[in-house]
Amino acid sequence: MSDTALMPIPGTVDPVPVARDITPRADGRADLLGLPKARIRELLSEAGLDDRQAKLRAKQIFHWIYHRGTTGFEAMTDIAKTMRPWLAERFVIDRPEVVEAQHSTDGTRKWLLRTSDGHDYEMVFIPDADRGTLCVSSQVGCTLNCRFCHTGTMRLVRNLTPGEIVGQVMLARDALGEWPKGAMDVADDASESEYRADGRLLTNIVMMGMGEPLYNFDNVKGALAIVMDGEGLALSKRRITLSTSGVVPMMERCGEEIGVNLAVSLHAVTKDLRDEIVPLNRKYGIEELLTACAAYPGASNARRITFEYVMLKGKNDSDEDARELVRLIKQFKLPAKVNLIPFNPWPGAPYECSTPERVRAFSDIVFEAGISAPVRTPRGRDIDAACGQLKTAAEKKSRAERDREASAA
Ligand code: SAH
Ligand code: SF4
Repeated sequence: MSDTALMPIPGTVDPVPVARDITPRADGRADLLGLPKARIRELLSEAGLDDRQAKLRAKQIFHWIYHRGTTGFEAMTDIAKTMRPWLAERFVIDRPEVVEAQHSTDGTRKWLLRTSDGHDYEMVFIPDADRGTLCVSSQVGCTLNCRFCHTGTMRLVRNLTPGEIVGQVMLARDALGEWPKGAMDVADDASESEYRADGRLLTNIVMMGMGEPLYNFDNVKGALAIVMDGEGLALSKRRITLSTSGVVPMMERCGEEIGVNLAVSLHAVTKDLRDEIVPLNRKYGIEELLTACAAYPGASNARRITFEYVMLKGKNDSDEDARELVRLIKQFKLPAKVNLIPFNPWPGAPYECSTPERVRAFSDIVFEAGISAPVRTPRGRDIDAACGQLKTAAEKKSRAERDREASAA
């Protein structure tokens, strides 16, 4: 399949998958999910509506999609009855297919999703007392092969489209029952304030699922634009965090053009070790990365950059590592907080998690230097939903199938 092909660019560690525009469906209809309003308007014009109609209908459709969660044109009651079947012949408003939904004993939920061309990916919802965080994937698999990350061992990689990225948020809102109920015939403004005021479950989004979001920049940007658009899902950029393993050349654009909070997967403070566990470091080293962090648009003491640090027993968890981490943060004058992530094991992983005492000692050193360093509680480990555990069963199966085929040949 051409859209799974990797387009190599110089360097051994960062092939860039080819992005797609609209997913062509077998029935020829275009999926409107994830398209900017202006593009919907264009498609309506191309299908034969005059300018005024196209503009009005695009606005209405966009509203139904993102404020009401509507998936069928028939329900769009402010669009002329005769026009609704006309729309349905040409367009759809799809959702990713759910292959499996799992519920952890701690309340974490994981969904295995499938694209219309048969690739599997995952999303995770993590409920807390004061917030609900959706962990969203940006790619099927990841090209970057961090040594401690299960997703990095996946072979198959394709960029997710804006529709597939926004589709995860839509699906989560479907599953959590977060669309306004019975609001179809309520005047716009009244219904909006009604459902915003209540306790929504999905309050935050982290681009920390499968994949490296900055290697799928345009699609992630397009999807998040809709998530943040007041006429779209209307989630504040302050509630969205994008995590990168350190794609330095895209970081400034991320701050400028997307404007969300930044998290950086640092994980090591020496060149040798970071080269080993985050191979992208061979291309963009620690100094370069921290320089880009210091210049990140929008970062301030009120909006700090999160440095993620996975705790690997005997690898990166010494007192000396903690002190070096503090020194680097101070040297680069970074408005930083540190997030210590206990390593989540997966079958065949070459590392173990640091002991709780070691994690505490490490955290204390960073705290004492005046930098917040909470330890992230692992969530959803029993369903392989925790950080770095995402790797689709289908991928495992298809590999097993390939092995069987190979031995049969
Ligand atoms: N590709 C991006 C975002 C996805 S990974 C990135 O690397 O930042 C989300 C976070 O989970 C990253 O900080 C990643 O380093 C961390 N992670 C990966 N594997 C892990 C594991 N096995 N245990 C704990 N954290 C892990
Ligand atoms: Fe990719 Fe992030 Fe996993 Fe590294 S940690 S392999 S960049 S998903």
